[in-house]
Amino acid sequence: MFGSPDYDVCAFGAHPDDIEIACGGTMAKLAAKNYKIALLALTQGELGTRGSKDLRAQEFATATKILGARMNKSLDIPDGQISNSQENRHKIIEQIRALRPRIVFVHHWQARHPDHQHASAVVKDAVFLAGLKNIDTGQAPWRPFKIIFYANRFEFTPSFIVDISSFFEKKMQALYAYSSQFHHPQQKSIELETAISHPSFLQNIETRAQQYGAYLGVTYGEPFLVREPLNIEDPLLLFDERNWVAIP
Ligand SMILES: [Zn+2]
Repeated sequence: MFGSPDYDVCAFGAHPDDIEIACGGTMAKLAAKNYKIALLALTQGELGTRGSKDLRAQEFATATKILGARMNKSLDIPDGQISNSQENRHKIIEQIRALRPRIVFVHHWQARHPDHQHASAVVKDAVFLAGLKNIDTGQAPWRPFKIIFYANRFEFTPSFIVDISSFFEKKMQALYAYSSQFHHPQQKSIELETAISHPSFLQNIETRAQQYGAYLGVTYGEPFLVREPLNIEDPLLLFDERNWVAIP
């Protein structure tokens, strides 16, 4: 109905670094399979306590390269003010129609940070609206095939977990690229300490990846949710020996 996709994956985050924290291992794994991936931040992260807009843009570009994504972009929605407004939906629809992704990744809607919560809602709505041809952006309509929600701090029962054991190191390298934001074991920062700059933040990321890895019987995992039941053509292809572990 809409023609063919261009990008395989478009991952949206409220701020530069959100995608890397929540699903950097999965992005690296998909990029290694040669899928075409775009990383989009809705804001430029200018409200962050540490770093500056320009520095965060450089860090985002470096992290994108490390993960193997093809492009990254920060939209100009003001940091701290993401809302599900018509203006913001329009900005996101333009990106979806330009990139024509098969799959969109975005924050789960339960989040401590209001920007993360609102990013989830505004991207979900834009994914639907991008398929309506009477919403005029001067581009052809496009509707991604599926939205996959990634985890913030709140827990949810995942629809699936991706084994990122071989890509955990890449994920951490991508996070270290945000040297203005996170603790780096080999670098001393003179900036104010924040919750995410403390060494325990990166340790917590590892602990959570181990927690989800444990459900699969592997070292590291990242959890995801899809809202709709899946239309599976051949369950035998999907449920192979990787899924032998009985999850209570
Ligand atoms: Zn964020």
